[in-house]
Amino acid sequence: MARIVLRNPRREVTIDAPKRVKVVLRELDLDPDAVLVIRGEDLLTREDVIGSDDDIEIRPVISGGAVGTHTKCRRCGGRGVIELRRHNAAFCKECFLHFFREQVKRAVEHEQMLDRTDRVLVAVSGGKDSLALWDVLIELGYDTTGYHIVLWTDEEYAPESLRYTQAFADERGVKLIVCDIREELGFTIPELPKTTGRPTCGACGLTKRHQISKAAYDLGFDVVAIGHNLDDEAAVLLGNVLRWDTDYLARQAPVLPATDEGFVKKVKPLFRLSERETAAYAFLKKIDYQVEECPLVAGNTQLKYKAALDLLERDAPGTKAAFYLTFLDRAKPAIAKPEMHPCPACGMPTPGETCAFCKMTQVHIKRKR
Ligand code: SF4
Ligand SMILES: [Zn+2]
Ligand SMILES: [Zn+2]
Repeated sequence: MARIVLRNPRREVTIDAPKRVKVVLRELDLDPDAVLVIRGEDLLTREDVIGSDDDIEIRPVISGGAVGTHTKCRRCGGRGVIELRRHNAAFCKECFLHFFREQVKRAVEHEQMLDRTDRVLVAVSGGKDSLALWDVLIELGYDTTGYHIVLWTDEEYAPESLRYTQAFADERGVKLIVCDIREELGFTIPELPKTTGRPTCGACGLTKRHQISKAAYDLGFDVVAIGHNLDDEAAVLLGNVLRWDTDYLARQAPVLPATDEGFVKKVKPLFRLSERETAAYAFLKKIDYQVEECPLVAGNTQLKYKAALDLLERDAPGTKAAFYLTFLDRAKPAIAKPEMHPCPACGMPTPGETCAFCKMTQVHIKRKR
């Protein structure tokens, strides 16, 4: 019998073994595109066999890019540990890490995201994407500082995410700035839906975007780097297209340039990499990240868009990449950019009068009284 630990929620099952990974996943009704199968320090492909004494972890990564019959590394011919169906290939550990770094290098160089002299503020949450991004930027030799926002304090999830981030920074001897929004802004995220009527994740996203942009400007950083991956960007694009929100469509890009109104350049170096690829990178680099999901995630519409895109990707690998990357090439240039003005309350650029963040906080303060 092999022991299988499943995460989110955590539970344990035992299965008859030996058995191939693909058979176990089918029996457990799990989508191979949405998980990493881990044995000790190794990742397993669908064709690997789980032995009777094995301890296996099946870790969800939400969305994916892999399932197929490739078991040999495309680059060196060694044993593949991860299959990337949209690239019609498998890679061994070393070649996958090489592939990942090359994808980030290509994004950074082609899109002119970073200069060697730039001081880069990396938004880090303690999750796989932001820590993978920080790790690869450190490896590529950029001058980085982490920026972690404590969104609330009275539950285990938020302090834990800070512990993962702090441990990452301590291990590598890199600088981390911690911002507690209760001290900085006078509220925490769980308070906002009650007073403003906004969905939690919408209010949270608005607050995080505002806070990191402001901090980067106040602290004199040249660039803000965000760990949004291809799945995130494709899901945001689907939402913007479903609403034909041309203001957002015009501003959705892997690079947002600096503006005179005090907006620091913002870049997304992982925009060519899937969520599953960043999870695999974090695992193979032994980055200890927060696997548990945020307890406030219920109702997040972006997850619904991700699920819809996952469905399409399963039948037609490469759909997400084609959707987002072709949008950048062909559709985006045809959409007129909105005129931006400085927000009278905070000075950040906004297409309207007062920016969405200041409008939200003004409503919060009024209703809290
Ligand atoms: S899931 Fe929603 S509330 Fe939780 S951190 Fe992400 S955006 Fe914020
Ligand atoms: Zn290889
Ligand atoms: Zn404002």
